[in-house]
Amino acid sequence: MKNPSGQDNDHNKKPFSLREWLFGMSVDRKVFWLGLLLAIVFIAGWAVYCNIPWLSGMGECRFKQVTGLYCPGCGGTRAVRALLSGHIIKSFIYHPFVPYCVIMWLVYEGSHLLEILHVPGVKGMKFREAYAYVGIGILLCNWIIKNIMLFVINGLH
Ligand SMILES: [Zn+2]
Repeated sequence: MKNPSGQDNDHNKKPFSLREWLFGMSVDRKVFWLGLLLAIVFIAGWAVYCNIPWLSGMGECRFKQVTGLYCPGCGGTRAVRALLSGHIIKSFIYHPFVPYCVIMWLVYEGSHLLEILHVPGVKGMKFREAYAYVGIGILLCNWIIKNIMLFVINGLH
């Protein structure tokens, strides 16, 4: 339907519906918004963590104190700190899961943001379960390799 000014009538008059917006969204776009939300939660959590001295000054991880082994998250905090000060390689050595997540997040969220802004030729990345499996794989490999190295180093003493 056209109005006198020649514009599409039913297109302009449609009121915004949160329900339709939410349920009409593709899975990939939902993951985009979820990613944005997670980043906000993470940044808020990090800000709180850095400002509570007894929490950030806790020193060695509890798991390592008890078992003598690294936990899967050991090195994560240092990796985030290194990344925030621009040391990508250092961050990768401390905990490769951290830069992996950040790079994936930047590429994924960036591609969707560009699509939302109608940048020609850019399509939001498709979400694949494989991205999560790669992440879990990195987490496990890092954990196993670090503990093997710990044994090797301890064996040398
Ligand atoms: Zn730990």
